Parts: sequence; C-alpha cells; structure tokens
Amino acid sequence: MSIQEEFGSLVFSSKTMSKYLSSKIYQSLLATMQNGSALDPSIANDVAEGMKNWALDHGATHFTHWFQPLTGTTAEKHDSFLNPDYEGGVVASFSGKELTQGEPDASSFPSGGLRATFEARGYTAWDPTSPAFIKKSIDGVAVLCIPTVFCGYHGEALDKKTPLLRAQTALVKQINRVATLFSVPATTRPYATLGPEQEYFLIDADLYKERPDLIQTGRTLFGVRPARHQQMEDHYFGKIRNRVLSFMAEVDRELWLLGIPAKTRHNEVSPAQFELAPVFEEQNLASDHNMVTMEVLQNVAEKYGLVCLMHEKPFAGVNGSGKHNNWSITGPDGKNWLTPGKTPHENAKFLLVLVSIIKAVDTYSPLLRASVASAGNDHRLGANEAPPSIISIFLGEQLTDIINQLENGGAKSSKVGGVLEIGVSSLPKLPKDATDRNRTSPMAFTGNKFEFRAVGSDQSCSNANTALNLIVASALDEMLSVLDSEIAKGTDFHVALQALLQKEIKAHKRILFDGNGYAETWKKEAEKRGLPNLVTTLEAIETYRDPAVIELFKKYNVLSEIELKSRYAIDKENYFLVIALEAECALSMAKTFILPTAIAYAAELADSVESMAEFKHAGVEKLAKKASDAVEALIVSIDALEDAVKKESTKEKIKTMAEVRVQADALEEIVPADQWPFPSYADMFFIG
Ligand code: ADP
Ligand code: MG
Repeated sequence: MSIQEEFGSLVFSSKTMSKYLSSKIYQSLLATMQNGSALDPSIANDVAEGMKNWALDHGATHFTHWFQPLTGTTAEKHDSFLNPDYEGGVVASFSGKELTQGEPDASSFPSGGLRATFEARGYTAWDPTSPAFIKKSIDGVAVLCIPTVFCGYHGEALDKKTPLLRAQTALVKQINRVATLFSVPATTRPYATLGPEQEYFLIDADLYKERPDLIQTGRTLFGVRPARHQQMEDHYFGKIRNRVLSFMAEVDRELWLLGIPAKTRHNEVSPAQFELAPVFEEQNLASDHNMVTMEVLQNVAEKYGLVCLMHEKPFAGVNGSGKHNNWSITGPDGKNWLTPGKTPHENAKFLLVLVSIIKAVDTYSPLLRASVASAGNDHRLGANEAPPSIISIFLGEQLTDIINQLENGGAKSSKVGGVLEIGVSSLPKLPKDATDRNRTSPMAFTGNKFEFRAVGSDQSCSNANTALNLIVASALDEMLSVLDSEIAKGTDFHVALQALLQKEIKAHKRILFDGNGYAETWKKEAEKRGLPNLVTTLEAIETYRDPAVIELFKKYNVLSEIELKSRYAIDKENYFLVIALEAECALSMAKTFILPTAIAYAAELADSVESMAEFKHAGVEKLAKKASDAVEALIVSIDALEDAVKKESTKEKIKTMAEVRVQADALEEIVPADQWPFPSYADMFFIG
C-alpha cells in the first residue's frame, strides 16, 4: 500500500466510517463531528457496531475511553469486546452506551480537592470532534481508543480536554461576532488552530538504564558538560545519523497511520536533541494528536534501543526542550484570520484581531506564564534560555511600524513595500510577507500565526491553548462591545474602530518587544514597563487566585472557581512532589554511588603518596589532598541535603541539591572516567 492509502488507516475517519456505517448513520455522525453538536442517541448503537467491526478487522480485542486527567498524561482502561454467550462461547459486542459514556473509578486520579474520595465515580463521555483511533503497541497489540472528556458526578471537569473545549467555544462565540460585524460569509464552523513543534532528546537505552536520575526524574541531577557540546552550532539542521533517521522514519509512518500529519523532522541545537513538527489542525484534535505523538516517540525509541527524553531540561549547560505552540484562528469563511488581508476591509479585521491579542496577552500575561508552569519548565523559563519568563510579544519591524502609526492616530503607510490604501478607511494595505524572526521571544508573530514558545516539551498543549483562547475571547468581547455601542450611537464604523485600536494600543503597547529577550537589560526594561517576571512555578500559579482571573474563567464558563482552585492545588502539589523526588534521588545517588567512588579514589591516591614517598614529588600529594578535600566538601553538602529532606523544606532542597551537584561534578572531573559510576554527558550526547 502507498503511504497515501495508508494515511489515517487506524482512524475511524469519514473515509472509514463510510465503509462501516449505513449511509444514513454515516451522514448523521459526520454532521455531529463537523458541527461539534451532540451525538444523536438513536444512532449510538449503530455507530458502536460499525466501530467495533472496524476495530475487530484491525485485530483489536479491547476498547478504551482515552482521556487526559489532571496528571498531565493520558489515561486508559481496557475492556474487551467479548461477552459470554452462556453456551460456552463468546460474542463480540459494543453498545452505544459503552461508546458514549464510561464510569471509571476516579478515586486515584488527582482532583485537587474537587471530589472527596467517597465520591469516587468519574464519568467519561465521547468527544466526537476527535475521531476514535486504534493504538498498536510495538508488538502489535491493538486497542480501540475513544477520545473522551472526564468529569465528576456533578459535572466538574477532572481533565484537561474539557476546559480546552469550553475555551474554544468562548472564542468561537466572539469570532462569530467579528464575522457578523465584517459581514464575513459563513461556510464552516470557526475554530482555533494549533501546530505544536515537539522537541525531544534521544539517548542510548543501555546508558539510560545506568542513570537512576533519568529513570526516576527524567533529568540528570549530576553531570559535567563535555568539551564538545552545542558550541560549534553544527548539530542544528545537521546530517541526521542513520540510527536516528531510521527511528524518525518509523515514527513518521506510525503517526501517518494514525492520521497525524507529521511534516518536519530535524536535528535541534543540542547534541542528541531533535524536533518533529506536524501540519497544524483544529486545536482540540491537534492537542490530542500531540499526546499520541509523544507516546509514539517513546514507543518507537524503545524498538531502536533508544530512550526518548521529553523532560524540559534533561541536561544542564545545553538547550532544553519545549513545544512551540503555533496558534491561530480559522474564521467561518475557512480562512486564517491572522493572515493580513488584501483589502482595507480585511486589514481592519486583521488589526482588530491582532490588537485583541496584544490586549489579551498584556492583561493576562501571568496566566499564560502559569499555564506552562512546572518544576521541569522552570529550568528553561527562569534560566538564561529560550524563552524568558517575562511574557512579551514580538511583532516584527513592519507590524510594529503600523501599530505605532495607529497609536498616533491612524496608519497611513506600510513600511516595507506596502501599498497605501486610503479612502474606505485609513488602515494601510499590509504586505503579506512579514518574515522577521526573533528566537528569543516567548510569543512571536510569525507572519500568519502566533508562536507561543513557553510550553514545556512534556506538557499537554491544553493548558496553554485554554489560556490563549480564553484571554483572546475576553479581549475581543470587550472591544466588540465598545464597537457595538459606538455603532448604536451612530458613530461611523471605521472611525469607531480607529479610535478603539488607538486606545487599546496606547494601553497595552508595553507588552511589545522586538529586542533580545535573553539580555539582562530587557529584565530591567521590562520591570520599568511593569511587566511581571514570574521566574518560578510557585510565583506563577498564584495568578489562579487573583479575583480577576477567577472571574475571567467563570464568566466564559471555562472553569468554575472550585475547578480553577483544583488546578492551583494540583500544580502546587506536583511542584512539591517533583522537588521532593529529585532531592531524594540526588541524595541516594550521592550517598550510595558518588561518595563511595570518591572515597575509594581518594584512598587510592593517599596510598600512592605513601608508595611514591621516596621520590618526594609534590604533584601526587597535591592531587591526593585535592581529592580528599573534595570528598570532605561532598560529605558536608550531602549532610545539608539530608537535613533539607528531613525538614521537608522545598527551598532548602533546591539549594542543597545544587550544592551537592557542584561537589559531585567537581569530583567527576578528577575521578578516573572508568571508575565514575554513571555514563557521562559525553557518553550520552553522541549516539552511535
Ligand atoms: P516556522 O516556525 O519557521 O514558522 P512553519 O511555518 O513550518 O515554521 O510552522 C511551524 C508550525 O506552525 C507547523 O507545525 C505549522 O503547521 C504551524 N502552523 C502554520 N500555520 C498555522 C496556523 N494557521 N495555525 C496554527 N499553526 C500553524
Ligand atoms: Mg517555529
């Protein structure tokens, strides 16, 4: 079979449906999927029957409701299709009810206090906007997966998909208002789009197995950066090594079978770091697809004797991994609304949406920061690497120029090759190709979409996109209400729009920054502008307790106050748990691997001093003293870490873990390489 024929063969797509469902049922289900309306219960049994037959044809014996609890990963519980026929045999069955609703015991999923443990019941309900698919393990075990939302007895959202869908609904409502205002023809349901670029590391599985820190925490807690790392800038887009290329080719094929449009693959900046980017899709589907992509990357790696590391910062001293969350809006006309238009009228719509995003990000930047907050991501966002923890927007020279002109009472020209269009409106015609790039910006306009770069590599995209949809919906709502009331008063539409854009730009232009986001001077400048710099998770998530943020989530029915509180509680708890786990892991590695090795080496040197005493060489003695001092220093730092662990102080744990690392890494530099208890960074970086 050609890849075109194979693409999506493991998805219950419209093509598959048309083969397994009667044409009446097929049409009805298709409408449900396209409109996002509820599934007609009278067809559920027939849909389930068709889906089961298709799954059996692919060798699946089980189905699962596949959902995204607040752990941040995916969850599945398999049920077989088989039921006894009470004549000693079995029948394969799958009812409409089994398809549309499940009741997994929810007591062991985090609920952040939403649900007392005695109310253990959770409910899963099919989300027909994301099609069912068949997941196959590397050994070919096939399971029918039905994407579902997950909620508690009273309908409270216990997952990450529900708020994403709700926030998209809020955004779509505002997009439809814009469409009405600009008389945009409606040919489709509007939706937000997402194209998540996924970064990851690959290391040899045999080396991974020798690193308790990687196994338990996902990142190295010790390790010295080798002489050669990323400084030659030769890995980025470099030739892909054979083993990695074979891995990538198989990943792509697996993704294509699942209907996931994997598009781009390349080497990233750090050695052993890579990236995979799909073609963008409707946001909810793209978000589900990203969860599957992460799983496929990990599964296929296993087959090649590799381990795929998705942690935000597996190695100190080189680049960490993120997800570039490319976000845009497809309007009811089926067009990308972040593409500058051809006519002044289209440009007016573009500028309205653009300014609403500027307003949204400036008003709620702490919320965006909080949406990507985690202990792992703190190593990227708070540190000196892409992107910084200060949220700002990059527009590029040309759009910035237009924004500046609008601020000063109406744009009259466009800087680069722009054609002046005055008359209907004083908004200029925008040339299409705004190709400036700025790698340091957390939120960059890249010509026809915004790229939010702060999402962590192992995070679900749902939090970030929930926040983006919600804040833009709110900003649009406010701006459209102003326009509505001006128009009602008889103000000319373009005059009203011009005045509104001017006012909003004046109020929010501090969020615009095109310079170097890594520079120390930016930190000072941002502070002067009053932009928050939330370096750690604990600082960032406090925004969930801000009354304005609580009101925002409530007003647009994205999360109720208690649902939002639960997210806060879970994020906080997770943060403490991760630090505690890392501290305990670091302590045990230091005590049971590093210290004994170091003592043995120091003792060996001391013996050498004695046996070589007759030569009276100062060098060996110096070395022996150095090793013995390093051992002492390590012991002191271990004691401090042990204390911090006992006291359960998170702040102390972070500080003392760093001290132990300094001492241990200093020892790694003097202990003979073959005696060091763990594979080194150099061993792991250069995959054979
Ligand atoms: P670059 O980051 O250099 O702009 P691309 O243009 O290839 O690279 O886009 C990167 C990602 O952005 C891809 O996953 C792509 O599908 C996605 N993307 C492109 N257009 C949109 C859009 N309208 N909405 C969301 N994502 C998009
Ligand atoms: Mg990009």
